Amino acid sequence: MTVPSPKHVLGRDKYDAVLFDLDGVVTATNNNHFAAWKQLFDQYLKGRATREGAPFHEFTEDQMSEFVDGKPRYEGIRSFLESRGIELPFGDISDAEDTETVCGLGNLKNRFFNLSIQTDGVEVFENSINLIHDLRENGILCAVVTSSKNCQTVLHAAEISDLFDVRFDGNDAAELKLTGKPHPDTYLMAAERLGVDPARAVVVEDAISGVQAGRAGGFGLVIGVDRAGIAEALAQNGADIVVADLGELSA
Ligand SMILES: [Mg+2]
Repeated sequence: MTVPSPKHVLGRDKYDAVLFDLDGVVTATNNNHFAAWKQLFDQYLKGRATREGAPFHEFTEDQMSEFVDGKPRYEGIRSFLESRGIELPFGDISDAEDTETVCGLGNLKNRFFNLSIQTDGVEVFENSINLIHDLRENGILCAVVTSSKNCQTVLHAAEISDLFDVRFDGNDAAELKLTGKPHPDTYLMAAERLGVDPARAVVVEDAISGVQAGRAGGFGLVIGVDRAGIAEALAQNGADIVVADLGELSA
């Protein structure tokens, strides 16, 4: 079997750093997330439908792409519920999991996600890991930039805690009161921490909200990774190029 040569080269002459999203780009945790979101929303929507004597419509993968993926947890909930014409009070991050607030639902989703990691473990995309080693060996800095507050847990479970020069996750964003993706602030802060100019940095994202953030931040190149059959939407929302897998890239 011949190994196809990479189509896109991220040269040191053009770029100082590459900023990677985590879920769906480095780790195959999108499945864990989708399972957790589906469990949460279907359970909630069923209860609501029964209460109101209305029909139940399940949560789908397309709706995850459109309203939830890449965004901070509570914002994803608010955005999806809004699409169903449901508005809940935000509540408080300490809300119990059975509280009917955005935070209550978010906290329950987080439990479902962590259970899924414990049960199923975390898989990585080997081509992504190989690319990151390749980039760093060629003097290009690498960061992981995620809305997830479970970043450390996921990196640890995948045994790649030492893979990145900078880690910027949902906890860092909350601490600095930064607005999450699709706003560019978390990517810009990660670039600042790496000490690089965004124009000489690359963003790699699988979510629509993520490529929007890369584009809005004025990054030198935005790469969309199409894991969900949304190549066109990624291109329309800010990806300069779309790949199916990071094996198509090299340093
Ligand atoms: Mg992602």
